[in-house]
Amino acid sequence: MKTFLRILKYLLPYKKTVLLLIFSMLLYVVLNIFSLAMVVPLIDVIFTDVTQTAAEVQIDLTKGNIKDQLMGWLYHTLGQYPKKEALFYVCIFIAVGFLLKNLTAYMQMFMNAAIEQGILRDIRNELHRHLHKLSLHFFMATKKGRLISIVMNDVRMITESIMALLGSFFRDPLTIIVSTVILFIFNWQLTLTILIVTPVVGYFIGRIGEKLKKYSLLFQEKLSEITTLIDESISGVRVIKAFKMEQHEIEKFETHTSKLYKIFVKLQRIRNISSPFSEYSGIVIAVIVMWFGGSAIIDKTSPMTAGQFIFYLTILITMLQPIKIVTQVFNTVKEGTAAGERVFAVLDIKPRIIDAPNATELKEFKDTITFDDVSFKYDTTSLVLKNINLKVKKGEVIAIVGPSGAGKSTLVDLVPRFYDPVEGNIFIDEINLKNVTQDSLRDMMGIVTQETILFNDTIAANIGYGVKDVPIQKIIEAAKIANAHFFIEKMQNGYDTTIGDRGIKLSGGERQRLAIARAVLKNPPILILDEATSALDPESEMLVQEALERLMKNRTSFVIAHRFSTIQNADRVVVMEKGSIAQIGKFAELITEEGLFKKLYELQFRL
Ligand code: ATP
Repeated sequence: MKTFLRILKYLLPYKKTVLLLIFSMLLYVVLNIFSLAMVVPLIDVIFTDVTQTAAEVQIDLTKGNIKDQLMGWLYHTLGQYPKKEALFYVCIFIAVGFLLKNLTAYMQMFMNAAIEQGILRDIRNELHRHLHKLSLHFFMATKKGRLISIVMNDVRMITESIMALLGSFFRDPLTIIVSTVILFIFNWQLTLTILIVTPVVGYFIGRIGEKLKKYSLLFQEKLSEITTLIDESISGVRVIKAFKMEQHEIEKFETHTSKLYKIFVKLQRIRNISSPFSEYSGIVIAVIVMWFGGSAIIDKTSPMTAGQFIFYLTILITMLQPIKIVTQVFNTVKEGTAAGERVFAVLDIKPRIIDAPNATELKEFKDTITFDDVSFKYDTTSLVLKNINLKVKKGEVIAIVGPSGAGKSTLVDLVPRFYDPVEGNIFIDEINLKNVTQDSLRDMMGIVTQETILFNDTIAANIGYGVKDVPIQKIIEAAKIANAHFFIEKMQNGYDTTIGDRGIKLSGGERQRLAIARAVLKNPPILILDEATSALDPESEMLVQEALERLMKNRTSFVIAHRFSTIQNADRVVVMEKGSIAQIGKFAELITEEGLFKKLYELQFRL
């Protein structure tokens, strides 16, 4: 219930439209009953002897119950005209009544679309905005497919449930209430008998709702898994082909789709049972009414005329549709609540890296970056960095080397505050990183990682990513510095060429040079380079190396180096081993010292 109330809050920005919608729904209810009510004069006044019927009901507008008064007024008014003329007026009333009823129905749909799509957009935007606030911890622990599925499928489910509720809430329960009141007015004894069986029907519908929620949750979970699988098998298509794992992937996928199929069939069967169940319960009631009410008419013991009895039955039968809808809505709300729980579980995650309340803007980088006794661990690991002490002067190029898993990437991830140390602190010009805003800190940095993530956009947009309103001339300049201009020019549409998902249409070296051009354009004082491990051909390597050197000029750089050729010009080399700094010094010094660096060097050149 709490979850659904929270879901309903998304209606607040649309309150005016919602009010209009409610108004048109109320109008619809009135017009619907009005259109139906015209059946009474049609039968009684026109096809039976109206004067006799009018006499039976004793036309006295001050006496009798509401039904008698209303009917009396109607018979009296119509009775004044010849039958044909009365029939004509009744026909006109019915035609106008139905026209208005349908107009209000259209008005409802008209407003529904705006509210529905608005809510869908709002929740998706909120989720997406929230995802960008979350730190890397969250993305490391959550599967991409699950997130995509939540943003796409669960949000749609929530919206559907709100709309189902809204579409029905002010119309169907009201129709049911108004119809019940009319039934009471016409024959309270009969109506009371009917009402006694409703709790039994309600109990079964409640049970169905609970089951639906359970299966809906299972269904959404399975859908997330399948989205993850699609993502993995498309992104990993090269590896899958190389290892001839297509059949394995196909089987894995089909096992999941079979499970999804089973869950969906079950869900659909449960979903569908409530509707015939509620309709049939209603029909049974109507048949009982037909028998007892009809018998009373035949025996002339009924308080109702034939026309009134038919009206009573019509109201009862037309109540079945809204009852059916209300039960469906109840189920959809249950399913929406399940989806809401998944969406809110993400929305309620607090970002771990947040700006301190008194965080200041980092205006410039003047002097040093200091690691002061820094230790770090991931949620699932023991310490991967242990007591790191390092002072980096402005303008220095620090190369970081070490065996795989030594903690090199983790160390540099702490500088832009992708993670915070679990112990110790990092200072930039004596200011603790935790006391500056993340935006101003990251403004100081350019990051060229192993992944060189590029977006499915034009070359120009990829280079200009993160820099606002940049003129093409500047982009070309950056590309030239990055040794990229030459190959870009040769492409079909030059800087307007689209480069495919993650730059799939580019070679490794080209991708790297684009990423370098991006960093050149940003022109940050601090650089973090996580050098690509994949080998480039000598020409490409030379071009990348040259571009990197130009990029690093006059900047403070942290370079995770896998190739020793890259680090010869570094001011200092930090050698990492099992999360600690094993050696530190100039390349030329380290190469002569006995230790890990020498071993790694000899290993690389097979000395
Ligand atoms: P490589 O040269 O292979 O890139 P590295 O020296 O950069 O290695 P890191 O990536 O910093 O090493 O990893 C250090 C340790 O932390 C490794 O044992 C790794 O398994 C672990 N690790 C890295 N990222 C995560 C993560 N997101 N969650 C849990 N453990 C992680």
